[in-house]
Amino acid sequence: MNKNHLLKGIGASPGIAIGKVFLVDRDHLELSHYNIATNEEIEKEIERFKGAIAASRAQLLKAKKDINKKKFKEAQYIIDTHILLLQDKFLMENTIKAIKHEKTDAALALKKTIDGLRKHLANINDEYMQERTSDIDYIEQRILRNLAGIKSDIITASKEKIIIVANDLSPADTVNLNVNEVLGFTLDCGGRTSHTAIIARALKIPAVVGLKDITSRVKTGDTMIIDGIHGVVIINPTPDKFLQYSQQKSQYDEFEMGLLKYRDLPAETCDGFRIKLLANIEIMEELPSVIDYGAEGIGLYRTEFLFLNRKDLPSEKEQFEIYKKVTETIFPNPVTIRTLDIGGDKFMSQIDFAEEINPVMGLRAIRFCLKEIAIFKTQLRAILRASAYGKVRILFPMISGIEEVWQTKKILDEVKKELQAEMKTFDPDIEIGIMVEVPSAGTIADLLAKEVNFFSIGTNDLIQYTLAIDRVNEQVSYLYEPLHPAVLRLIRNIINAAHSNGLTVAMCGEMAGEPFYIPILLGLGIDELSMNVMALPRVKRILRSLHYKESKSITDDVFKLSTAQEIEKLLKKTANKTFPQQY
Ligand code: PEP
Ligand code: MG
Repeated sequence: MNKNHLLKGIGASPGIAIGKVFLVDRDHLELSHYNIATNEEIEKEIERFKGAIAASRAQLLKAKKDINKKKFKEAQYIIDTHILLLQDKFLMENTIKAIKHEKTDAALALKKTIDGLRKHLANINDEYMQERTSDIDYIEQRILRNLAGIKSDIITASKEKIIIVANDLSPADTVNLNVNEVLGFTLDCGGRTSHTAIIARALKIPAVVGLKDITSRVKTGDTMIIDGIHGVVIINPTPDKFLQYSQQKSQYDEFEMGLLKYRDLPAETCDGFRIKLLANIEIMEELPSVIDYGAEGIGLYRTEFLFLNRKDLPSEKEQFEIYKKVTETIFPNPVTIRTLDIGGDKFMSQIDFAEEINPVMGLRAIRFCLKEIAIFKTQLRAILRASAYGKVRILFPMISGIEEVWQTKKILDEVKKELQAEMKTFDPDIEIGIMVEVPSAGTIADLLAKEVNFFSIGTNDLIQYTLAIDRVNEQVSYLYEPLHPAVLRLIRNIINAAHSNGLTVAMCGEMAGEPFYIPILLGLGIDELSMNVMALPRVKRILRSLHYKESKSITDDVFKLSTAQEIEKLLKKTANKTFPQQY
């Protein structure tokens, strides 16, 4: 192994960590297999298997109890899935059958059964089912470890803080870790939106994921540097690299601390123009950071995370309690709760989605909710009831025309009437808004503005649909250009239409949190920017170094240009002049 190895992965949580590796060596579990002959041996092996299942179940129940204390709700659901999988009839019966008929040891019998299950799932073209494969991996590893007599979860019990290196971490693993002991995560698997990545960001621990084979390149005790900003990992660095990154780490930490100074300062330009800066959240664990980083509310709460990775639908009560908690925590600031944006690339197991050739343009978001009205109404009831406890706004995703807004408002009115009849309280003046993320909605923004209280521009989808670029297809990623004149013209049209009708306009796609785009968004007159919490202090700092009038005139110049490249060049000049090294 190259002693000074530099690897490139996906930066999943920013920051720099330097420390000793703790390798979670699951895949290298050595199990010797053997044949059994007598009935007595068979019975003993079956009992051993059942014992390993019971031990696995006990460990997961304990993990669930610990999670309750730490309030990682999402992780809890996934552990429930794992507990259910342990009791799976197919898994139990087939493993026992293999022990009996093939006269193999329990570990080999289990592996064969699970391989069969994996093959079966591989043939199903469904993202939820693919996710189940990783659940099955976790379960297999846990039972095998118990068969091998390894009772522990990942116990670090280390005197010094460590960097976790693993193939993948289940939510049970992640919450079992003592976060005070963990400096960073590096994983073979995963993307930016993997569960571990989200939790790492919520806990502010640097992480690099998607490294493919990091677990086979290091051993426990190696020294490692993680650069979660650029997605870089260095194994056993040279003294020079060590020094260089130690300095960078101090600078970064200082910079981050410095940014926190901005928490209580107003988000305004040098010439006093105010923009509201809000946070995007996916899970409740992010709430403390929303407050720490001084967000002026939640501009996008992606509620679909409540519906994913579970076998049942969240009840009205469960949703109400979560929305109420978020609302109360953020009060007096507003919480913008987006209704279920499911479909596209996010599927729920509870519903049989018909196979679609083009799911991103298919039965997604509001289209799904207008079809599955019972699910929609349950969510609306929960949101409305939570609105009695603070300031809630409702945001409807993927609106493409006026009829959808009419239909949505009709259902909302029905739900309000039901609640009134049941004497349940809610905010009667609750504001409703739409995500403008489909080009048709952007084009008829003037008509839509007459129907709702606010707009929120979802640039992630708006760019993908406007430019016909699949936002997750690497082959065409070079064409995904937020500064494409078509995109900017559409954004300008949306903002102008909103303002002419007295509406505020927010932006909640990734573009809103990118320092580089702040001058043009300011110049276009955006009212609110909503972004991942970590981006907030930097954006505020940049905003405070800009002049509104100057940004307006730069924006006028931008609209004279005809390509994204020319626009980028112009904006780079501004950035270099006003906020060098910050974009
Ligand atoms: C968007 O499309 O810009 C957006 C914020 O929604 P999501 O990323 O959840 O589709
Ligand atoms: Mg979207």
